[in-house]
Amino acid sequence: MSLSALLEARIAREGPITLAEFMEAALTHTEFGYYIKRDPLGAGGDFTTAPEISQLFGEMLGAWLADAWRQAGAPSPFLLLELGPGRGTLMNDALRATRNVEGFHQGLRLFLYEASPALQQAQRLTLSKYSISIQWLERVSQLTDFIISQSTDLPLFFLANEFFDALPIRQFIERDGVREERRVDCRSGAFCFTHEPENLAIRESCEPAGEILSLLASYIARRGGAGLVADYGYSGGSRGDTLQAVRHHAYADPLKNPGEADLTAHVDFDALAAAARKAGAKTHGPAAQGAFLQRLGIELRAAALMRNANPAQAEALMSGMQRLIHPAQMGRLFKILAVTHPALDQPAGFD
Ligand code: SAH
Repeated sequence: MSLSALLEARIAREGPITLAEFMEAALTHTEFGYYIKRDPLGAGGDFTTAPEISQLFGEMLGAWLADAWRQAGAPSPFLLLELGPGRGTLMNDALRATRNVEGFHQGLRLFLYEASPALQQAQRLTLSKYSISIQWLERVSQLTDFIISQSTDLPLFFLANEFFDALPIRQFIERDGVREERRVDCRSGAFCFTHEPENLAIRESCEPAGEILSLLASYIARRGGAGLVADYGYSGGSRGDTLQAVRHHAYADPLKNPGEADLTAHVDFDALAAAARKAGAKTHGPAAQGAFLQRLGIELRAAALMRNANPAQAEALMSGMQRLIHPAQMGRLFKILAVTHPALDQPAGFD
């Protein structure tokens, strides 16, 4: 059995399925899902991410967290949650960067939201050097229970890098004032869309993204805390069809070989920010990733690391930093949105 065969049989039975149903199966089907089966990151995988490019990324986000935590009055204990932690690299760098922040490691209760058993294992290994116990959450229902069952008043701090882009989207087309959903059909054994409109005629929505961020934002609005969403995406109106598949570091057909390629869509930052505000939290940004990291002092941190680096390490530090901040690389397309308790109104890194 393969995921393609399962989906083909389902479509034969039920008719065309929504893109969200297709994407959810392709990414997190319990047996055949893309993330469930493998570690997709890095040179030998399909794509690479900011924390895998440079330790500077996680160090800056760690410094941001510690600063927000201090602004909140250095509460102890507190909840620290990362959504979609990949190999655990971002958390590793953030924890290393904050090990001398008095009370921070002692106070944190670490939670990782991760659907993939393979990546949970990688995270366990990466983070085993800290004597911090970790609790994993795998499904939205567990995340909801976790948030709702926090009968204590522990504030929540969170990070999410390239997590929201992996959540299933739906696509709609408006014709003569009538909204139709674009679905996935199967003809002669190949998956295809039910509608093939002009790219820009397509509107996207990502319900799980709004649901998850609202959950965290309403908790933060009540109990305190702050978090960062880092991802690639847009603000200021629809960009049409942004669905993309990446396999072995190259673009692929999103409907071909479900479960074998990473499927993502650009994050609609305005929709995320609106969901967080509706839940009672304050939002900041989105700021361009490059500007955000520069305001946090990434160049000073790189210069400090370079003093003890050999020429090859120095070159890797410089080129890694450039990839993160240069507008033609990740500096502009990638954005950072902060969600905070309304009283925490001056998080670092924003105008
Ligand atoms: N943050 C990491 C990894 C990004 S890849 C980095 O920057 O390197 C996306 C991550 O989100 C992976 O860890 C993946 O397994 C996880 N993920 C994707 N969809 C998920 C879902 N629906 N529920 C929980 N985790 C999910």
